[in-house]
Amino acid sequence: MSEFNCPNCKQPVFSTRDKYFAAKWKILVCPHCEKRVTSQPLILAGYYLLYLMDVIDLGGLAVLTGNMYYLVAMAVIWVILDLFSIYLPLAALRDAGAAQRKEQPLDPAPAEQNAL
Ligand SMILES: [Zn+2]
Repeated sequence: MSEFNCPNCKQPVFSTRDKYFAAKWKILVCPHCEKRVTSQPLILAGYYLLYLMDVIDLGGLAVLTGNMYYLVAMAVIWVILDLFSIYLPLAALRDAGAAQRKEQPLDPAPAEQNAL
């Protein structure tokens, strides 16, 4: 039951469950093109600010007013945010080897200076 397209190969390979976990910062691997995919990081960071506002605002209201219905509202909004998180767009990531190749030092001289 795959209904969401891979941003690389445009094949419908990801399920609703995959999208849900991608919105929890999980990195998915496309079974078709084997590229890494996750939710758009900037949109996801903004989305997590909504979670933060939910907890701080309604949790704070519950503590300040002593009305525990604000905690119920906080839980309901949390569930609604979780349900809408499957609609966050996916983004293709660079291959894992590119980052490792970039970290390799081009000039070994600084390491030798530290050894002396
Ligand atoms: Zn793919």
